[in-house]
Amino acid sequence: MSGTSLNGTQPTVADVLIVGGSHAGLSAALTLYRALHTTVIFDSKKPRNSYSTPVRLTSTWENEQPEKMREASRKELADAGLTTFVDAGVEKIEKKNDDVFEVTDEKGTKWLGKKVLLATGTSDVFPDIPGYADLYARGIYPCMFQFGFELRGCHSAGLLAIDGLANTLHATILAHDGHKFSDTMTIYTNGNTALSEEISAGLKTPGMSVDNREIARLTRGEGSSITIEFKDGSQKTEDFIVHRPLTKLDRKFADQLGLNISKMGDIEVMPPFCKTNVAGVYAAGDCATPMKTISNAMTMGAYAGCGLARELPKAQRSQ
Ligand SMILES: Cc1cc2nc3c(=O)[nH]c(=O)nc-3n(C[C@H](O)[C@H](O)[C@H](O)COP(=O)(O)OP(=O)(O)OC[C@H]3O[C@@H](n4cnc5c(N)ncnc54)[C@H](O)[C@@H]3O)c2cc1C
Repeated sequence: MSGTSLNGTQPTVADVLIVGGSHAGLSAALTLYRALHTTVIFDSKKPRNSYSTPVRLTSTWENEQPEKMREASRKELADAGLTTFVDAGVEKIEKKNDDVFEVTDEKGTKWLGKKVLLATGTSDVFPDIPGYADLYARGIYPCMFQFGFELRGCHSAGLLAIDGLANTLHATILAHDGHKFSDTMTIYTNGNTALSEEISAGLKTPGMSVDNREIARLTRGEGSSITIEFKDGSQKTEDFIVHRPLTKLDRKFADQLGLNISKMGDIEVMPPFCKTNVAGVYAAGDCATPMKTISNAMTMGAYAGCGLARELPKAQRSQ
């Protein structure tokens, strides 16, 4: 496909404008080309898993780099010839009428499409603890199903019960996840005495304990180990730390299009086809679910592609 840009010589209207070219967006484009529909994928190339950590929980891609998955997917789409790739961020999306959306990319180029899919992901919001950002995904791990197996046999691990994990239920569940890979698991409540007492009251598992000292900073040790320095001057080294930071949706497009946001802060979509409250707009992947994994992003993308294809008229070409 060529000439979907309004600046091109033969302005045309793409079937679907996909904002976000990672796991969800690429998967949707695949479903759409198989129904003979054209797509334009805009991507600012900042996927959430860009920490050089290998892919896990994704059968047949285990231990590969996520960029390799995306490259393979882009090649499949390029070979089919119905996808245009635009390596640029999108600034604005406007619904011109019931049949046409206009996307403006960061270079000011305008693109037209019959439908829009948002697959923009979310970003991590780190707690305000010195050292945390440098150690995220390099000693501080958000999910033990992804990172635990390689850490098996450790002696001592910790969990930070702060921000989104400053509640007994979530802290305890993730602490047990981490405890599978370590002899001991200490839940650090960072001076939150009420939380410390509540977690302690329900904690019965041998090897698990609660520590309420206030944390001053985190520093890197050997391998994945991290030294926690406390405000009282004491310190403790853990072989690894479990903590899942909060995630944040960039609400720019939700505001521009009038999309509903869920209680969890993601774009609200109707399962299984990931349709939003605005006709012609779909959303898939991390930006539209609290279940933020590659396989879920791909599944949502595939279903969204299916829903979009069924709303589109039969393609007028003979591929
Ligand atoms: C450290 C870490 C490791 C992880 N490891 C795993 C793992 O092993 N297995 C697993 O299942 N999950 C893993 N995840 C979760 C996984 O990364 C996400 O669930 C997955 O990337 C979501 O895919 P997505 O396509 O929805 O969003 P993303 O992969 O985040 O991609 C969104 C894309 O949209 C683009 N974009 C955003 N805004 C715009 C815009 N305005 N214009 C154009 N483009 C835009 C971004 O640049 C990005 O390329 C990990 C997460 C982290 C933080």
